Amino acid sequence: MSYAPDTLHQPAEWTAKGTCTQPPYAGSDLWYADEWQKDDRRAAISLCRTCPVLDACRATAAKEEAGKAKAHRHGIRAAMTPRQRWLAEQKSREQAEPRPACGTTKAYYQHLAVDEPVDAACQAASDAYEQQLATTSQNGQR
Ligand SMILES: [Zn+2]
Repeated sequence: MSYAPDTLHQPAEWTAKGTCTQPPYAGSDLWYADEWQKDDRRAAISLCRTCPVLDACRATAAKEEAGKAKAHRHGIRAAMTPRQRWLAEQKSREQAEPRPACGTTKAYYQHLAVDEPVDAACQAASDAYEQQLATTSQNGQR
């Protein structure tokens, strides 16, 4: 089993199909509109939304910018501003985090956040925490 050389390893082939790499939008300032240039940003984002390779773009941007600060992300990519891409990464990271173990206040608040019934272990952890808070504030007041 062999592959023709020209089908091997062409990771960026899809970019040639992107709206942002084709005339009249290739090299346009729209993609690098500043935060205050809201109309340009909106125009760029709506062009991205109709782009045939949006999914590949989103996946690539997420990979290339992983762990980067907001200020180190540039331009409109995958129908998102640098800030929106940063937020999307924070969100997906939160979702990937394992849930806290039952019997902790963290797990208790997690139950509340997702509207689940609270089990006895988590209720006890929360009660203990509330108790501790009450004690601390009494001591603070003197
Ligand atoms: Zn629990």
